[in-house]
Amino acid sequence: MTDARSRTARPGSKPPLTLDTELTFLKGAGPAVASRLKPLGLERVRDLLLHLPIRYEDRRRIVPINEVAHGVEALVCGKIVSAEVRFGAKRWLRVVIDDGRASLVLRFFHFNEAQKAAMTDGRWLRAFGGVRVTPSGPEIVHPEYRIADSALELPPETRLTPIYGLATGITQTRVRALIQQALAVAQTDADYKADFPGLGGPATLDALRTLHEPDGRDLGDLLLDRHPAQIRLVREELLAHQLCMRLLRKQSKSAPGTRIEGVLAAEARLQGALPFVMTGAQRRVVSEIARDLAAGKPMLRLVQGDVGSGKTVVAASAMLGAAQAGLQSVLMAPTELLVEQHARTLNGWLSPLGVEVGLLTGKMKKSERDEALRRAATGATPVWVGTHALFQGDMKLKKLGLIVVDEQHRFGVGQRLALRDKGPAGVTPHQLIMSATPIPRTLAQTVYADLDVSVIDELPPGRTPVQTVVLSNERRFDVLSRIGEACRQGRQAYWVCTLIEENSELQAQAAEETYRQLREELPELKVGLVHGRLKAAEKEAQMRAFQSGATQLLVATTVIEVGVDVPNASIMIIDNAERLGLSQLHQLRGRVGRGATASQCLLMYQPPIGQGSKARLEVMRTTNDGFVIAQKDLELRGPGELLGRRQTGLVGMKIADPVRDSGYIGGLQKLADDWWLKAPKEAQRLISRWIGDADRYAQV
Ligand code: ADP
Ligand code: MG
Repeated sequence: MTDARSRTARPGSKPPLTLDTELTFLKGAGPAVASRLKPLGLERVRDLLLHLPIRYEDRRRIVPINEVAHGVEALVCGKIVSAEVRFGAKRWLRVVIDDGRASLVLRFFHFNEAQKAAMTDGRWLRAFGGVRVTPSGPEIVHPEYRIADSALELPPETRLTPIYGLATGITQTRVRALIQQALAVAQTDADYKADFPGLGGPATLDALRTLHEPDGRDLGDLLLDRHPAQIRLVREELLAHQLCMRLLRKQSKSAPGTRIEGVLAAEARLQGALPFVMTGAQRRVVSEIARDLAAGKPMLRLVQGDVGSGKTVVAASAMLGAAQAGLQSVLMAPTELLVEQHARTLNGWLSPLGVEVGLLTGKMKKSERDEALRRAATGATPVWVGTHALFQGDMKLKKLGLIVVDEQHRFGVGQRLALRDKGPAGVTPHQLIMSATPIPRTLAQTVYADLDVSVIDELPPGRTPVQTVVLSNERRFDVLSRIGEACRQGRQAYWVCTLIEENSELQAQAAEETYRQLREELPELKVGLVHGRLKAAEKEAQMRAFQSGATQLLVATTVIEVGVDVPNASIMIIDNAERLGLSQLHQLRGRVGRGATASQCLLMYQPPIGQGSKARLEVMRTTNDGFVIAQKDLELRGPGELLGRRQTGLVGMKIADPVRDSGYIGGLQKLADDWWLKAPKEAQRLISRWIGDADRYAQV
């Protein structure tokens, strides 16, 4: 299959739309919209189809304003009483609507003149959002809304409203409209018209339509992720994943690999430069890697190790080994924050040994980036650190011998496949994949079927287990005095703001608000703030300040979830912890308990909370063991509670969650073996549908 057809067509020449057409050919998607959708992985029409809603909202009933409840989302409709711009720390728009029973305030922090002008008194406004009941009455911050001259023009919806993961500056309405167009295109696509035999359930396109435009009939099943349409797509994706792993395995088994000897010598040399002694588990894993690298076959090894088990130094040993053999290696991490941290760490360890570490981040100036790419291409700098995304771009390394992928749960099989041609022609680089997402051992073999697995099953000595306390946010005052006290004793703390919001803009706002509040409440402390919307340089400065102890309390969004390492930080507060899934809580908590001081994690919840949330917090309170938590997660994830979907987000899948959906994997492995032998064409079709990169598969 080739997907080059429509890529070269220019706007204006009106080619027929296909699934491979770029998004910009759709109505309502100019270059600006397209560039904002790109980070979500949405570039072609086909990507939109599989961009499934992350949840649904029920806007089928208008709630009288005097019946709205705190913390509950509601559809309200009322007459506009006033709309005025206010000036506080920021300029904002305050709109009051009244439905004859009560009034409600809408707050907008981002708005334009046209929006404001449309809100004239006496018109009707229908809004949907999470309600906050404040002493001065109910309010909604940044609702989705519509305006009309009469209430009759604003009836409730007849279908459930799908909510999609968003990019800044793109509205739900816009995404919905684009997906409608994508569905229409799929209707004419030969691949989607031909169903797959033996998969059961509704055909793919029917399933997609059900999920994008749910009529609400099977609401319960839908919300619990067990609607036949969901099951069908999950099975399809898992099967595609299984097939792709067979492909990866076959490729690497048949390719020659560069022999790298001397990894153990490198480890010994590195050990000499370290301020600590590597654990037995770390050394065992390094020796497993050393054996792979010296074997003359491309290594494909996964290192699983709980948060804080010390994976970085294991990777560094392998990278030093490669450097000593005259080869380059790259370490890829999912966030800029983590990349910068890794660059600092590796520099600290390797530059005293005379090994240069290069950095590649998305925020570099073009001239700096070009220079970095040039150096990489000449083979000069032996060790590189950068984000996943960067290495998927045009980077080439003349002497690439080893690729390390950190925090693999953010990185999919398809991406791994694309790494093949980063190095010199004909050479398959060794791959070391590191994951802190502890998945139950029983599952590892199936989820990572193509990888050899090493486990770092020992934490560095001298760590006292994190003590976890669960408490209601009514005790916020106690929490504040505890933090104040601890910081006075020279300790540092994280304050993590959570928000079920697919919009990073709103998350940033919530964090900024908490930041302001905490600075008022704890005036004697130096408080820092880090969230996803800060500029890279600012993020880095904030992290440095926290790392050096210049700030004592760091207010953060879940951006610090992966990999961040500040050993002196020994307290973590997680606000609204009941909203997070177990694996996310575990990752976050792993940021503390890294030094010698006893650490605390305070999980604050907003009462009342449901049974499921209670059970999760209880698991967190009683154990620190990632594998136990993963097992509990599997058990607790039964039906009964809707919780942000896909909590694990393992291995870069779009909709399946190998932990939640583990029950299907066994059967699908058999099916994959079958297809692999008897239906290679179908197998290829399924892989390109779900994992993409059709060109590449055509070479197989
Ligand atoms: P993770 O496995 O979560 O990526 P890191 O590699 O970030 O863990 O290591 C966590 C912390 O433990 C770092 O500060 C690191 O320097 C330190 N560390 C790693 N190995 C050891 C060890 N054997 N003894 C003491 N500290 C160690
Ligand atoms: Mg790490």
